[in-house]
Amino acid sequence: MAASRRRPFNTMKPLPTIALVIPVFNEVPVLPELFQRLEALFTSTHDINWLVVFINDGSRDHTRDLVAAQIARDSRFRLVDFSRNFGHQAALTAGLASIAEADAAITMDADLQDPPELIPEMIAAWRAGAEVVLAVRRSRQETGFRRIGFDFFHKVFSHLIDFPIEANTGTFGLLGRNAVNAFNQLSEKHRFFPGLRSWIGFRHAEILYDRNERAAGTPAVTLRKLVRYALDGIFSFSHLPLRVLTYAGILIAGLGFAVGSFFVVRRILGIEVAQTGFTTLVTLVLFLGGVQLIGIGVLGEYLGRIYDEVKRRPHYIVKSRIGFD
Ligand code: UDP
Ligand code: MG
Repeated sequence: MAASRRRPFNTMKPLPTIALVIPVFNEVPVLPELFQRLEALFTSTHDINWLVVFINDGSRDHTRDLVAAQIARDSRFRLVDFSRNFGHQAALTAGLASIAEADAAITMDADLQDPPELIPEMIAAWRAGAEVVLAVRRSRQETGFRRIGFDFFHKVFSHLIDFPIEANTGTFGLLGRNAVNAFNQLSEKHRFFPGLRSWIGFRHAEILYDRNERAAGTPAVTLRKLVRYALDGIFSFSHLPLRVLTYAGILIAGLGFAVGSFFVVRRILGIEVAQTGFTTLVTLVLFLGGVQLIGIGVLGEYLGRIYDEVKRRPHYIVKSRIGFD
């Protein structure tokens, strides 16, 4: 029986299907070059069944039409069209949930900051046995505030979290089928992709690259969205902010007790009781008020996230799908 189930030697192994998952939000200026560079990639690698899933995250320009035109030209392309802007993370989630037939997924940005030319190297690492391949930034071209912000975040974040997350990685990378399945099981609302990708485990491989500035257009992720994303990373992967509050509380209470005892002892010994000055009082009231407000804020961050979870709203609403038969 067992022998009859074994494959005959002359059966050709089917080509692996690899899906590119690309969220797009107002990306008209970069799409023509992106299509071109993907085309070049496809013609240079023959032993792969390519699939490209774009997720249109409520673009207000003609992104949807450009992708639809590309789908009409090339049957390897597909589109998931959101009913509004749900954000980069929701788009990635939708993309990874729409590629049931793929043996591996490559998540990347549309703006060519993630060079498609790196993909063959990722696939080689995957074929060599890595379930997750990460593109690690050797350098960045971003400057100014964003640059300082990125560097600061990666430094602080690595100290905050409870398990290791590779520094200087973004969304660019490859997930094998098992990793995609694992990722699709995660239901949390506030998603921080690099964190979740480490959380699911599996064997990782890393590839170094130089990150370019975006090819055209302006960053769709505003500084405000970046800050929110960074906070999501911290609050969904660390209880440290809560712990710091507890420690600060213990410290300040201890200090209060010590100061109180000091005055009581002086009173008992008949030493003159110190006249507390106006400045000291105001400083103390402001300081303690501030610490308490920070505490309430931190609690609020966690509470708000719990609230979002219990509402159990879907992560996104799909308006239409094109290219999926
Ligand atoms: N993006 C998205 N929804 C958004 C913002 C951005 O799908 O609300 C996409 C965008 O089209 C791009 C990727 O997410 O493909 C990364 O965006 P961007 O280049 O603006 O971010 P940055 O490089 O600054 O992290
Ligand atoms: Mg970008």
